[in-house]
This record gives sequence, structure tokens and C-alpha cells, in this order.
Amino acid sequence: MGSAQSRPADPARRAELAANLAEVRKRLAAACERAGRDPATVTLIAVTKTWPASDVGHLAALGVTDFGENRDQEAAPKAVAVRAAGVKVRWHFVGRLQRNKAPSVVRYASVVHSVDSVRLATALAKAAARERREPLDVLVQVSLDGDPSRGGAIAGGPDGLDGLDGAGPDVALDEVLRAVAAAPSLTLRGLMAVAPLRWEPGLAFAQLARLAAQVRARYPEATLLSAGMSGDAEEAIRHGATHVRIGSALLGPRAALL
Ligand SMILES: *Cc1c(COP(=O)(O)O)cnc(C)c1O
Repeated sequence: MGSAQSRPADPARRAELAANLAEVRKRLAAACERAGRDPATVTLIAVTKTWPASDVGHLAALGVTDFGENRDQEAAPKAVAVRAAGVKVRWHFVGRLQRNKAPSVVRYASVVHSVDSVRLATALAKAAARERREPLDVLVQVSLDGDPSRGGAIAGGPDGLDGLDGAGPDVALDEVLRAVAAAPSLTLRGLMAVAPLRWEPGLAFAQLARLAAQVRARYPEATLLSAGMSGDAEEAIRHGATHVRIGSALLGPRAALL
């Protein structure tokens, strides 16, 4: 789990994270200012993949409330360790998710950002109905370049919701939205996307914003937009992101290739 040997009371690591957090908060505030947005409308999610539970403790003590992970094998024990240390946080699952991991993820995650198929929505709905008292908040991940190999449901047409454009119905955006909205154990909260490699992030997030507006017209409760990472959070905020997922700018460069 990362090379950092940080212990709960490691003051040097705490100071490093405090400095990074101040810098990130400054960037987000400046982006909100430029976009004419209230900074309170943008939630910072600290993506702690590869970093130890003690870093979650440091950031929580510094005021961070929302944390993201992308692999259940790492996230599940980390969530247990954080809770055992008496630290209360909200976990966001942001990575590709295999259906057989759904029963584990619904035990600790408050939000799953990466639902991109009808079959995954169905597996999560079943697991959430069995394991949870409250519905699970879900964001449907969309593929902006139509390449499903990197995750994301596929929107049909130039910027339309309807039509499959060659993709199977299991990953058609309108079908995935319908499956999530129809499940009593899931709550459709919005969309998530990652800017495609080599795309100008501003173009990617403008396209995402148009899609999000169409989705909101059909599902008024789907108001959240998860977009923007360490390298492109400003562009995402300009285009309406309500949740930015920041890893390396907060925690440092990751040792492991993920
Ligand atoms: C790792 C990850 C992030 C954070 O990326 P950084 O570039 O380190 O900020 C955001 N979203 C997802 C889905 C990730 O897997």
C-alpha cells in the first residue's frame, strides 16, 4: 500500500499534507472565483489510493470529509482501519468495479461514481438491498470519447441520450440511467467522467456539461457532476463540476502503477 511509512502521529507527513491541502483549496477557490461560483458548491474528494489509512486520518483532522478509492481490495481494509481509528469519513468509490465486488463496496461506500453498465447497476442494487438500510448514491460514469475500454456508459448521437451508436444496450447511457433510477436501493445522483487522454479537458468537460443538462431534464434529482482531477480540476469547475477527485496534488506522486 504505497511506500510512505507514515504513522498516525507523523508530524512531518501531517505538515506536508496540510501544505498540499492549502495549495489545492487555493486552486479550487480561484477556479470558483473565475467561474462565478460559490466554493461551497464544489466538494473536494481526496483520492487516497496507494496511500495508508494514516493519511486519511491526517486529512480528516485537517477538515477533509470525503475520500475516494478505486480498488475494493485496497479500499475495504482501509475503510475498516479508518473507522477503527475512530475517524468518520464519507467514501466514494471511483474506479472500475467488478460485479462480484458489489457486496463489499456497498458496505463502506456512500457514493459509487463508476456505474457504467446495466449489469453493474443490477448487481449494486441487489447488494445494496441486502447490505444497507439506506439507498446507495450512484453516479453514472459516461465515456466522452465512446471508447468503453476505459470505462463509462456510451451516449448515443452527437450529444443525445437516445440511440446506441453501435454499443450494446448493457452500456448504453440511457439504459444505465433507467436501471439506476428504477432500483429502490439506489439513488441516481448524477454523472461522472474522466477527460479522455489527449483531449483538451475544456472540450471534454463542455461536452459533459451538455450531457449533464440533458440528464437533469429527464432526472431532476441527478444534480451532481463528478469531474476534474489534479491536472484539470479548474476546467472541470468552469464547466459545473460539483465534485473534484484529487489524488497526487494532495498526497504526492503515486509509487505504484494503477
Ligand atoms: C486516481 C484517480 C483520480 C485522482 O487522480 P490524480 O491525477 O492523482 O488527482 C481521480 N479519479 C479517478 C477515477 C482515479 O482513479
